[in-house]
Amino acid sequence: MDFELTEEQKAHRKEFFEVCKELEKKRPPSFVGFEAVFEVDECWEFHLYCAKEFAKKGWLGLAWPPEYGGSGTMMDKVLFAEARGYHGIPGVDIFGVQMLAPTLLQAASDAIKKEFLPPIVQGKVMWCELWSEPNAGSDLATLATTAIKKGDEYVINGQKTWNTGAHRADWGFGVFKTDPAARKHHNITFILLDMKTPGITVRPIPYIDGGGPFCEVYFDDVHVPAKNIVGQENEGWAVVNLLAGFERSGMTEIMAMFRDLEELVKYCNETKRNGQPLARDPLIRNRVAQLACELQAARAIAYRIADLQNRNEMALMDASAAKIFYSELGKRFAFVATDIAGPYGQVKTSRWAPMHGAWEKAFQECFITIISMGTNEIQRNIIAWYGLGLPRMK
Ligand SMILES: Cc1cc2nc3c(=O)[nH]c(=O)nc-3n(C[C@H](O)[C@H](O)[C@H](O)COP(=O)(O)OP(=O)(O)OC[C@H]3O[C@@H](n4cnc5c(N)ncnc54)[C@H](O)[C@@H]3O)c2cc1C
Repeated sequence: MDFELTEEQKAHRKEFFEVCKELEKKRPPSFVGFEAVFEVDECWEFHLYCAKEFAKKGWLGLAWPPEYGGSGTMMDKVLFAEARGYHGIPGVDIFGVQMLAPTLLQAASDAIKKEFLPPIVQGKVMWCELWSEPNAGSDLATLATTAIKKGDEYVINGQKTWNTGAHRADWGFGVFKTDPAARKHHNITFILLDMKTPGITVRPIPYIDGGGPFCEVYFDDVHVPAKNIVGQENEGWAVVNLLAGFERSGMTEIMAMFRDLEELVKYCNETKRNGQPLARDPLIRNRVAQLACELQAARAIAYRIADLQNRNEMALMDASAAKIFYSELGKRFAFVATDIAGPYGQVKTSRWAPMHGAWEKAFQECFITIISMGTNEIQRNIIAWYGLGLPRMK
């Protein structure tokens, strides 16, 4: 693909960056790291405020068809993600806007699209993902939570876990076993449910530092309308694979690292050790330059993914490859930055903490994307099986 932007794309990019730059001025100081949106009330309020601002501009439906409130192209969506990532702005529901909406557009009935897409594009409804269970993570198809059809409803019983922001979400999309007698992968249905339905209990999993963005969700005879399914009954595995591709492409995370790189370069220029700016140390220069090169490569991969999605040609392994690259780059970045900052890099809240403790936070959080969305070991399996045609291990 040609990486040069058209004049129109450059104008859109400029507008995305200008709006996000203004929003950054209103961002609460407590907004440090991805988890803050779900952990801190004022950060969640800021997220909802940004969602409304973006909805007014039609930016939550970029690359959607106009009949569902969409406008713009896949490239606009990427450029918007760049601006949000660079300025650290929430407002785009990772579950509703980024994962569920493109899945519904490809796999849902017209009735489901008409009911569920407008509240997403209007920034009115926030979603969570109800997939993992205590005994079903990497091997998700072994899930045990059942949804048994009774008349025009499913009755759900069981437990999900590690559900990000489930305590904040209005609605959840989940996968449930609808035919316990059928074989694995052919017994699962993808169901949409209102998180206020009686019988649902959401319990945040407390962190040692008091936070807790992830939850356990319990289902005790939860009645959900049978019409709320995506795709066909017992064929939810295909929907899982479709959504997983949208979950893993990662431009916002990559652009957040570009901003972090600028801050790191500034820190190296301004901080002296043994009378010399850190930026003069050849070892530090080398490590920072290496990060800069890898970041450019990550951006090129994200553009390529967008181009493939635009043409409906993205294969499962493309998203897996991108996810491995940017998540492991995030880990290398956090390690290098905290190394360079030395002992101060381990300080969370103090006037001595460089960048208000952002590197300490990045170090603590950098394993998130390596595990979430399917661990990197599983992504390597996907590349081996579907990309390279290698045999499965027994
Ligand atoms: C930050 C975060 C947010 C999350 N958010 C959500 C969410 O919103 N909703 C949700 O449903 N889930 C969520 N999850 C759960 C996530 O999807 C699972 O943690 C992940 O799929 C791994 O499952 P597991 O934790 O059960 O680990 P396991 O599956 O038990 O894996 C343990 C280890 O074994 C390795 N392993 C397992 N099988 C294989 C294999 N076949 N080959 C090679 N290695 C293997 C894994 O790579 C891993 O290192 C989140 C997780 C994290 C960390």
